[in-house]
Amino acid sequence: MNVLWLQSGGCGGCTMSMLCAETPDLLGMLADADIHFLWHPSLSEESGSEAVSVLDRCVSGELPLDVLCVEGSLLRGPNGTGRFHMLAGTGTPMIEWVSKLAARARHTMAVGTCAAFGGVTSGGLNPTDACGLQYEGATPGGLLGADFRSGSGLPVINVAGCPTHPDWVIESLMALSMGEMGAEALDEVGRPRFYADHLVHHGCSRNEFYEFKASAEKPSDMGCMMEHMGCKGTQAHADCNLRPWNGNGSCTSGGYPCISCTEPGFEEPGHPFAETPKVSGIPIGLPTDMPKAWFVALAALSKSATPKRVRVNATSDHTVIAPANRKTGLK
Ligand code: SF4
Ligand code: SF4
Repeated sequence: MNVLWLQSGGCGGCTMSMLCAETPDLLGMLADADIHFLWHPSLSEESGSEAVSVLDRCVSGELPLDVLCVEGSLLRGPNGTGRFHMLAGTGTPMIEWVSKLAARARHTMAVGTCAAFGGVTSGGLNPTDACGLQYEGATPGGLLGADFRSGSGLPVINVAGCPTHPDWVIESLMALSMGEMGAEALDEVGRPRFYADHLVHHGCSRNEFYEFKASAEKPSDMGCMMEHMGCKGTQAHADCNLRPWNGNGSCTSGGYPCISCTEPGFEEPGHPFAETPKVSGIPIGLPTDMPKAWFVALAALSKSATPKRVRVNATSDHTVIAPANRKTGLK
């Protein structure tokens, strides 16, 4: 399966993330799965005219293009010309290359939230008129348009995340290589469901603190970060705490609240990332699927039932009170 990877308006962090894949031999593993990179800006030896020749041959159809991967948002400015980002050595805006290649590719994949929804690059005043391949925030459209379908009939596959988890990219490519990613494998905004049908909250090491609404008050605290520190793990679609990064960590286990980087528009939450906006003391962003009245009732009940161990440890940077040992009487 031939894959062409282009970097548009992003930081390159999604490529860096992929290079942290937990395999001693990333390229060997991809080759074993019949995944062949025609060109990747960080991994390929070809540059200059040799690299442009690869792109030309894909556009002409001489080189079959199975997957076009785009990392980074698409810069449409100024005034729709795309000239803020010309592909070096070609005199042609990147958005033109992407449009022409997407028209040829059997599948088109957005790698990271920039390419999927616009991401960080489209934040603020967005002077470059950045957007995603098929979305602008949560609004369908983007560079290719809401009706765009790749040669396979699928919309853009949005492997969202800032950066994406290496497994999300590699497993998506493997599923495509095996012909096992159909429309039913994508959620409402085009994210592969194998990771987007989970919430970051699932498997978080702070779950016991969440149960009792025993909350962290400052960054080094062990408690749940939803109530005061902006954690959106109960609303963010991703399996970060079930599938740790680099075999070990996640934002929440590292002490940083989830900022829901897999969601459209995460870059502009309307409040500081590490603060929880509230009305009358109740967080505005309630857990997905949970009516407000239930949350208020359960939070009050669970706070009143919080064991001393959980309450004290929640605002400590290490375990102050260890779980009790209960004598069972069993031998
Ligand atoms: S999604 Fe995030 S990590 Fe990836 S290119 Fe954009 S800003 Fe960088
Ligand atoms: S810190 Fe966030 S993800 Fe972890 S338990 Fe609390 S709300 Fe859930």
